This record gives sequence, C-alpha cells and structure tokens, in this order.
Amino acid sequence: MDRCIKELVVISGKGGTGKTSVTASLAVLAGNAVIADCDVDAADLHLLLAPALQRRHDFYSGREAVIRSADCTACGVCASLCRYGAIKSAGEDNAGFAVDAAACEGCGVCVRFCPEQAIDFPERLCGEWMVSGTRCGVLVHARLGAAAENSGKLVSTVRREARRLAEAGNHPYIMVDGPPGIGCPVIASVGGATLVLVVTEPTVSGEHDLDRVLSLARHFNIPAAVCVNKWDINPEMTAKIEDEAEKNGVRIAGRIRYDDSVTRAQMREQTVVETKTPAAADIRRVWEKVREIMSALHA
Ligand code: SF4
Ligand code: SF4
Repeated sequence: MDRCIKELVVISGKGGTGKTSVTASLAVLAGNAVIADCDVDAADLHLLLAPALQRRHDFYSGREAVIRSADCTACGVCASLCRYGAIKSAGEDNAGFAVDAAACEGCGVCVRFCPEQAIDFPERLCGEWMVSGTRCGVLVHARLGAAAENSGKLVSTVRREARRLAEAGNHPYIMVDGPPGIGCPVIASVGGATLVLVVTEPTVSGEHDLDRVLSLARHFNIPAAVCVNKWDINPEMTAKIEDEAEKNGVRIAGRIRYDDSVTRAQMREQTVVETKTPAAADIRRVWEKVREIMSALHA
C-alpha cells in the first residue's frame, strides 16, 4: 500500500446531513484526486459530478439456487429442507418447485440434498461497479441491485479499485463518500483510511449519531475530525458538539453555515465550491483544515 496517498473518508451518522455535497466539494478542491462513491445503497455523487462512463463491471456476491424444472421430479425434499421458505410450488397445477431468488440465502442445503441433482448454484449478480471520468478526477462508483445484500463487499471493491487507480496515476488523494450509519458498509469504508471526516448537524439526533460514528472510528483506531453543517441553525448545540468532540480527542475541521444556494447549486449539478457563496468559503476553510490534519498525520 502506498502510504503517500492520503485517503479521506467522509461519513455521517445518518443520511441527509450534506455528506455527499461536502465530499463533492472537497474532491473539487483536492484537484488531482481519485473519487470513490462508497454510499452504494444510495449512490448520488454522480448527480453532482456528471460522470462519463469509461468501463463497467458486474458485481457478484454469494450464490443462489436455481431449479432446473426439466430434471426436477417434484419430490419436495428441497422445499422441506429450506429454512428460509425460499422454495415454493410452481408450474402447471403447482406440480413442480421453484426458488424465490429474493428469499434464497444461498446456504446450499437444497443443492446438497436434491436426490436428482437438479439444482444449479450459480454466483449471484448483485450489482455493478463503474469507472468514469469527471471534471475533477476519475470516479469509481457502484450500484447495488434491488434487494441485493453484501454492500460491504461492494464497498471494498470500489475502494480497492480507487486505490489501484491512485497508485497507478500518482494521485495524492483518494476522496471517499462513505455510507451513513455504523453498519457493515461503513466499516468496509473506513478501515485503513488516513482520516474520517464526520459531517453532522447541530441537532439532538445529530449529536447522538455523531457519538456512534466516533465510537466506531475509535474502535478501528482511525483518526477522526468533525465538521458541523448548517451550524448556525443552533449555535449552542454546535458548540456543545465541538466541545464533546475535542474532549474525546477528535479534531475540529470547521463549520459550514446554512445557505440556500447549496440547493440551487445541486439543482444545476454543481458542487458548492463551484459557486461564489458563503457556504463555499466555509467549505474551502474546512478543506484547508482537513489537508493540514492529514499532512500532520503523515508527518
Ligand atoms: S429436491 Fe430436487 S427433485 Fe426434489 S423437488 Fe427439489 S429440485 Fe426437484
Ligand atoms: S440455497 Fe438455501 S436458502 Fe437458497 S433455496 Fe436452497 S436451501 Fe433455500
């Protein structure tokens, strides 16, 4: 792993805090970066960066059972063994059996015990990942299929490709839009990062969610910084959040004010820092601070 590449992962305790908007702006300011959209359950960085697709790849994870009706004698063994209720009567007069792909957990029990060996067990197509060009660097992004699981593995795939591209192209930064929350995809997003930047809002739930993500960063021993978005809607809560963060050894990356023009920029498919607005100036200051923190971590 090339330790000269600095990887910033932007996360939040929940969706809707402005995380993606901040990531896109920081990617523009970083300049020569590889950008990774790891919010694979709700990827929307592409809405701001207008990517031009360069290549796409299928994403397979796990397996699923598929009954070959021509070889099935309808003995019903598979249906009686499936603990997930994924095998149902099917066909003319319900005389045969079929697997409900959405309910199949890929355990393989039916495949193992079918007396006719009439069940195939192919890899499951769960989504796709892409590499695209954007006006501020190459973007690695992904789409998880409907009802598909294992977004953690897809996140790892996106990050691995982003690092490979950064190393191959001598890019100094990888800018990651991480998933919200504290689940498996977030864990897959933050491991080994240079710095996690938590974007939060000054509300009671924002404070609570921040605690949870900071605990996660601490658990995995990843340096963290906090940025309060829309700080001026509750200055007292902002100060409280920053105080608590500092007491816990978390760096303060800065504040971004509430600014109507952020939404207008999004509607024009622009990042905030591509506009001359007060919020853009705030984000520029956040980037300077984040850059300083990452440089100190690498020193
Ligand atoms: S166990 Fe095999 S042969 Fe029996 S119903 Fe299932 S698929 Fe058909
Ligand atoms: S692989 Fe497992 S979950 Fe899927 S249909 Fe067979 S027994 Fe059920």
